[in-house]
Amino acid sequence: LVVLSGVQKHFGQLHALKDIELTVKRGEVVVVIGPSGSGKSTLCRTINRLETIDEGTITLDGKDLPQEGKALAALRAEVGMVFQSFNLFAHKTILENVTLGPVKVRGVGKADAEKRARELLDRVGVGHQAAKYPAQLSGGQQQRVAIARALAMEPKVMLFDEPTSALDPEMIKEVLDVMVDLAQQGMTMIVVTHEMGFARTAADRVVFMADGAIVEENTPEEFFTHPSSDRAKDFLGKIL
Ligand code: ATP
Ligand code: MG
Repeated sequence: LVVLSGVQKHFGQLHALKDIELTVKRGEVVVVIGPSGSGKSTLCRTINRLETIDEGTITLDGKDLPQEGKALAALRAEVGMVFQSFNLFAHKTILENVTLGPVKVRGVGKADAEKRARELLDRVGVGHQAAKYPAQLSGGQQQRVAIARALAMEPKVMLFDEPTSALDPEMIKEVLDVMVDLAQQGMTMIVVTHEMGFARTAADRVVFMADGAIVEENTPEEFFTHPSSDRAKDFLGKIL
């Protein structure tokens, strides 16, 4: 579904992505881990063109990613993204946050969008908060709204960049539970996270990055029990 081939990205002198080859199949859950600065966020950002690439190709469903214009807007609608900071519209209600994209970008009618938004908000456990504003919700609740908002666009793939790292411990689980649910329902997901429990339970594959390169790629069982590279061994030694 998502194929990156020969992707190179520089920030000035810094070689941020080195010849990235990555294929994510439909329904697959890929967890990306690695030390700070290894290029995990940059990788996510190139997949929805928040970041341009210098070389290589990225395709979604067999189509090259557009660089600009209407096609880019359409692409963004197909790639849901959830960041560390929740990025909700502060002056819009929870319900409005979730209906805005479908109405403006997808051209869905308001009543239909609201019906679907309520279903999604129920699904992530914040249905009763629909009339509130983001600031009235906890971090965990806001992040679940951010997930519902991304899902409302009916994306083909969901990207998560450390979705729980800004949350208090007691709220992490409620967000991870929603993500595990989503994974079990067959959503294609690329997840940058330090939550190794999530990687073990939900990931089909773990991709380990260091210094802008994919160093190792394996099933979670293999990766956690028999990391093959020194970089991965070193990293796991520090976090587990
Ligand atoms: P973390 O775990 O801290 O989030 P990361 O793996 O997500 O790290 P990236 O944010 O992708 O790492 O950054 C990779 C490298 O690229 C880092 O050295 C970072 O400083 C650099 N970098 C990222 N974005 C930019 C930018 N817009 N301009 C210049 N350098 C950047
Ligand atoms: Mg990052």
